[in-house]
Amino acid sequence: MAKLTFLGTGGGRFATVYQVRRTGGIYLEDGARVHIDPGPGAAVALHERKMDPAKADAVLISHCHPDHYGDAEVLIEGMTACSFSHRGVLAGNRSSISGNGDYGPAISDYHKRIVPRVAAMGPGDELMVKELRITATRTWHSDPDGIGFRFHTRKGDISYVSDSELRDEVVADHLGARVLIMNVTRPLRYRVRHHMSTEDAAEMTGRVKPELAVLTHFGSKLIHDGVEAQRRHVEASSGVRTVAAEDFMVMHVNEAITVRRTKGV
Ligand SMILES: [Zn+2]
Repeated sequence: MAKLTFLGTGGGRFATVYQVRRTGGIYLEDGARVHIDPGPGAAVALHERKMDPAKADAVLISHCHPDHYGDAEVLIEGMTACSFSHRGVLAGNRSSISGNGDYGPAISDYHKRIVPRVAAMGPGDELMVKELRITATRTWHSDPDGIGFRFHTRKGDISYVSDSELRDEVVADHLGARVLIMNVTRPLRYRVRHHMSTEDAAEMTGRVKPELAVLTHFGSKLIHDGVEAQRRHVEASSGVRTVAAEDFMVMHVNEAITVRRTKGV
């Protein structure tokens, strides 16, 4: 069984700065434990859920924007038991690990040194964390090095698109996923460059046809306009079961996929 805990479901600048929703990323457990995109408040969210940062096997960063890496160094210290234990994997896109022009690096040399394995990933690269295989996928975003992650779990593929415009190549990288997690920053009728809007999420869901579509990383305007309206649009136009993530929502991926909402705010 694979388990996902949503430690934050807000995204974009305003939702992050004002913490309209939390921005702690997603925690995936499938033998290995990986913390995906730990934005500001990730350590607080773990504390509130009574989850131990020292148990993580990997910290993953999809791109070099603070809503995706804000707490990463804190969690690297957690993963390594405050640097006393030389363990774990840090994997991120190239700019967050190595820096590229205006972006990054997001992680200091010190924090890269206390982890035994550091991977700067580009689209198509693969990474093993214990028995869990992870593939980096393509994105089109303002960080040109951005990537998504496809997790090949024992219960099928769970795909995290991350921040991206909708492109054929992005759709192609997620075909066959059982669970498709999309960062939907902008609501219906308010598409902007570099991000996915509700219309884009509906089209992508209709083309990928996962068993379950998950919407998350909501911007403040989308939250203001109503998350449920976006979910209804995606589900109605794609015909695919669609869930709008909530902070601290837990999902179990087994033969069936179940969702438990744990109001922690
Ligand atoms: Zn973002």
